[in-house]
Amino acid sequence: MLRSPVRKTKPTQTRVTPPAFVADCAPAANSSLQKIQELLAKINLAIKSSGNLRRDIKQDVCHCTKEIETILLSNPSMVPNTQADPAATTAAVRLAVREEMARFKPPDCDTVRQAVREELAKFKPPEPTSVRQAMREELAKFQPSAIAPKAPSSAMTRTYAESARAPPRKAPTPPRTLPSIIIKTSKEDPNQPSVLDQWKSKVSFRDTTFAPTKVKPIGKNALRVDFESPDHCAEALKRANAVPGLKAEEARKRKPLIILKGINKDTNREELLDIIAQQNAVPIEGMRLCFPLKNRNEKLYNVVLEVQPTIYKKFIESERVNIEHQRVRAAEFSRFVQCYKCLEFGHTNNKCRADYYPCSHCASTAHSFANCPNKNKSEALKCINCTRHNEKTGSNAGTKHSATNSKICPRIIHTRNILQETVDYGF
Ligand SMILES: [Zn+2]
Ligand SMILES: [Zn+2]
Ligand SMILES: [Zn+2]
Repeated sequence: MLRSPVRKTKPTQTRVTPPAFVADCAPAANSSLQKIQELLAKINLAIKSSGNLRRDIKQDVCHCTKEIETILLSNPSMVPNTQADPAATTAAVRLAVREEMARFKPPDCDTVRQAVREELAKFKPPEPTSVRQAMREELAKFQPSAIAPKAPSSAMTRTYAESARAPPRKAPTPPRTLPSIIIKTSKEDPNQPSVLDQWKSKVSFRDTTFAPTKVKPIGKNALRVDFESPDHCAEALKRANAVPGLKAEEARKRKPLIILKGINKDTNREELLDIIAQQNAVPIEGMRLCFPLKNRNEKLYNVVLEVQPTIYKKFIESERVNIEHQRVRAAEFSRFVQCYKCLEFGHTNNKCRADYYPCSHCASTAHSFANCPNKNKSEALKCINCTRHNEKTGSNAGTKHSATNSKICPRIIHTRNILQETVDYGF
């Protein structure tokens, strides 16, 4: 048999809790009222017991005290000290604020300075490596397509936001090449001191007003010495050649290369140099067409020119070259080449004599990059050139990068820099 569950109901509260402010102010109001009533009673007693007052005055005073009592009893809010009086509350608040303000003493400058000093002493700047790491992570997250508009917008049609977003354009500064001499030994004598020692001990600049800018050992027992001007260079050449056992010559520098990207195929390649010379006001004899290169756009092509330092400077600074209806982009072209078969520098794969194809990703000589089983594993990254260099020189350069990463690989960067030093950019 089902029994209906017994409902346990909570007993309802009959006591009503008065609001907080009533509880707070009631005792004070009550005690004041009580006090007034007591005083009024005393006044009444004194008047009645006094024989000197006129009867009608006694009656008036008694009547008034009764009246006051009645009014007070019927209006408890009129009793001072109750929070029901907003004017009194406001005045009390104002008074309290004034008192607090009077008590407030502003901290003196020394205290503030001391506090700032303590805070600064506690501050630890982030480590450069952590900042670099954070920047790397931010750069890795960066997607240019998300910010940069796909279509190139000219300065005239740019919105304000686009202009504000774009970093200020800075004209590239072409490198400067100092005149230099190459010093070698004139005879192959294994017992003679090194070229550097002979140069230091036998060639003096004490009676001149200049000094070499840079002395750099190159290759086997040879030196390259840079000077500020061709005059200094000529003087040093004379002095070095006067030393028996030394042979000095002016360093032969190669002319810089420039790549022009995106020339319209309608522009005939045979006429190209004439057009560039005429349309850019540069001497035609200062340029040589080296080779054409493919452009991603089938309607366009690129060319590499060897140019005089003055022409190089002009084209690199303006970044553009006028060709027919176009303002073609110009940039430096490096002589650096890397073989994609053996991954060594200085030759291209069609001139490669190596009989192995090391992997550019993991440095294995058992497979090429095309067949690399570790292609998707970044932890397998290992540069074969940097690994070999470390083994040869006992150095400890980083090897966790692709052997073809020209932005990271220290061997590529070093080789590029060496090549750049052999280029005459003018000075
Ligand atoms: Zn090769
Ligand atoms: Zn591999
Ligand atoms: Zn490397």
